Amino acid sequence: MLKPQVFVEMASRVKNLPPYLFASIDKMKQEAKAKGIDLIDMSIGDPDMPTPSHIIDAMKVAVSKPEHHRYPSYEGMLSFREAVSDWYKRRFNVILDPRTEVLSLIGSKEGIGHIPLAFVEPGDTVLVPSPGYPVYPVSVMFAGGESHIMPLNEENGFLPDLKSIPQRTLMNTKLMFINYPNNPTSATASRAFYEEVINIADKYNIIVCHDAAYSEIYFDGEKPLSFMEIDGAKSVGIEFHSLSKTYNMTGWRIGFAVGNSQIIAGLGKIKTNLDSGVFQAIQEAAIVALNTDEKILADIRKTYQERRDLLYDGLTGMGLEVLKPKASFYLWTKVPKGFDSSSFVAHILDKAGVLSTPGNGFGAPGEGYIRFALTVSAARTKEAIERIKKIL
Ligand SMILES: *Cc1c(COP(=O)(O)O)cnc(C)c1O
Repeated sequence: MLKPQVFVEMASRVKNLPPYLFASIDKMKQEAKAKGIDLIDMSIGDPDMPTPSHIIDAMKVAVSKPEHHRYPSYEGMLSFREAVSDWYKRRFNVILDPRTEVLSLIGSKEGIGHIPLAFVEPGDTVLVPSPGYPVYPVSVMFAGGESHIMPLNEENGFLPDLKSIPQRTLMNTKLMFINYPNNPTSATASRAFYEEVINIADKYNIIVCHDAAYSEIYFDGEKPLSFMEIDGAKSVGIEFHSLSKTYNMTGWRIGFAVGNSQIIAGLGKIKTNLDSGVFQAIQEAAIVALNTDEKILADIRKTYQERRDLLYDGLTGMGLEVLKPKASFYLWTKVPKGFDSSSFVAHILDKAGVLSTPGNGFGAPGEGYIRFALTVSAARTKEAIERIKKIL
């Protein structure tokens, strides 16, 4: 008897996916390791430091409570949402109603990936920054929307030039993504920029989704703003947040969205139908995380700042042009003459065993740059600098 056989054909939304950036980097990494290269991996924004122990201890207690072994509520435990609202009050002096203006997420990537499904009709335009987090354009495509790229250029401080977006485009725009402190450029945004965003959103009826994953990784004591701090923000948008980067919790999968209650409700509708919320033990540990002693966070920032200073001084000392980050843990570095993003990444990988990320992997306007992540120790950072210096 013939075995039954189906012809497996991917849906166009899968066929149309760009190659996943980190898949090709993974391949380079494997090849380098196979050659026996002692690799210094500065390519991925995943903190190398462990989750602080008080959070792990809270998780150990929470995981043994039987009431947490059942389905959680889709919008998150009220106690978690209250902890988020208290944190926003303390950190940004922003008042949020934990019942209607806060939603738990299985990491902020989950919320970012799902939000267009709630609001974007096929053919609607979504404004997407580029270079940028690859999930924005993919989530738009999955919802049938059309991304309009907002290039982030050095001349404009890596902020989108909102005035250059054609009025026709704005009239067809349903939603926009912005992200400051920015991945991959590390740029931060001013109050004036957010005010301009709110004006345009209000005028053209655009839902603003601000991704604030790096708001707590800042240097020299200069705290980044929350979009929610700006007058009128709550009438036009929401802010995505994550515990991943702030508390070294990328593996735990917990984040949240806050802001406009109707937008939060729309995202919640999608989630009710697709997932069943965040494991309650993780939410309980996340409450403890949100109340972390400032001293612990200051130490984490200090570690990144030392690495930033080392790498910035090292790279600029070799004559490379680098944006000195005020926040985030990335160094957005111009490639020297004679290279493009990909060839420079390949050059320092092959010759120096240092892996970085090609800027064009975050979108065409990232061509001409590479990104270093500050997620390796100071000693290895020094080693990376020495090795790159030798080959330039
Ligand atoms: C890391 C990152 C996130 C997602 O983090 P989660 O782990 O899903 O919470 C979101 N946006 C940007 C820009 C990031 O770099």
